[in-house]
Amino acid sequence: MGPDKPRMAVPSMRRGKKGMRRMSKKNKDGRIFQKIDPWIADDEDIAAAGPLADCVHTRALLCIRRNLSDGKIPKRCFGEISYGFNVATVQKILKSFLSSGLWIEHDSYWEIRNWAVKYNMSEHDMKERSEELSKSGSLGMHNRWHSQAHPNPDCQHCIKKKWVK
Ligand SMILES: [Zn+2]
Repeated sequence: MGPDKPRMAVPSMRRGKKGMRRMSKKNKDGRIFQKIDPWIADDEDIAAAGPLADCVHTRALLCIRRNLSDGKIPKRCFGEISYGFNVATVQKILKSFLSSGLWIEHDSYWEIRNWAVKYNMSEHDMKERSEELSKSGSLGMHNRWHSQAHPNPDCQHCIKKKWVK
């Protein structure tokens, strides 16, 4: 079921030049990505919801990624995921998602079943992974560039080895 009051599908995305959405600043090149199953349209719960369902579901995944909301689609994003479509059609798709259990309804958001398993590491896992990567990156820098004679006072590995006085 859509939000209580169906409204005009209005894009709520901020748009930069040429209508492209500006990317969230996440890392050096400022880009974040969302894994998409290339057979998403063949998923039986999605196929059962009709021909636009894969697009609605994909938009929902992108909305989750932008909001870093761990599988939850805030209901305020309905305008975004239904943009350009007939609202009643999208509501029918949602109804089908909910009845198949692909999406689970909560008060202020929909949740994608098995989101973490199917599409993503959780934000928590991503944070751990990026900390891991930056740790191994800093060790690489340390091994390559630092020595007892030339420690880097900001390097945790040099500090650990007590090379920094
Ligand atoms: Zn070092």
